[in-house]
Amino acid sequence: MNEKQHDRQEFISSKLKLMEDRCRKSRLSLTSQRRAILENLSSRTDHPTADHIYASIQDRMTGVSRTTVYRVLETFVQLRIAQKISSPEAKARFDADTSRHHHASCLSCEKVIDIDATLLPDVHLKKNDIDGFEVFDSSFVVVGLCKECLSTDGVARTFKYN
Ligand SMILES: [Zn+2]
Ligand SMILES: [Zn+2]
Repeated sequence: MNEKQHDRQEFISSKLKLMEDRCRKSRLSLTSQRRAILENLSSRTDHPTADHIYASIQDRMTGVSRTTVYRVLETFVQLRIAQKISSPEAKARFDADTSRHHHASCLSCEKVIDIDATLLPDVHLKKNDIDGFEVFDSSFVVVGLCKECLSTDGVARTFKYN
């Protein structure tokens, strides 16, 4: 196991521990489905949709449905174990990394990659700036084309219409 894999393994175990803790406090049962879904989400950095997770666990989890996966992910968001990322597509993307960071979303292949929080300035919005809305946190989604899509001629032409 190299260092990167080792760090990922540590991250997965810390996430599972956190879930056990949060579930206990919220009196939610620690089902094997919740475990499998969190394990899958924490093991990846591609900001999957509920469908992506469903596709990768359905073989070993009999009786799990897309709806279950979606519901479990929503529970994780409520328990603040995971975050939901707004994206230009209709489908929500999920991230087990709840530390403050931003995302770049490719309009062509729909890939979502992390942007270090220090690369973008913090916004300080006051209540009156947005019609009395109180901001708890803010993150940005930067949209564009990833380098793989940019190197595909046709894709770049389709999107760079202006
Ligand atoms: Zn792309
Ligand atoms: Zn992320």
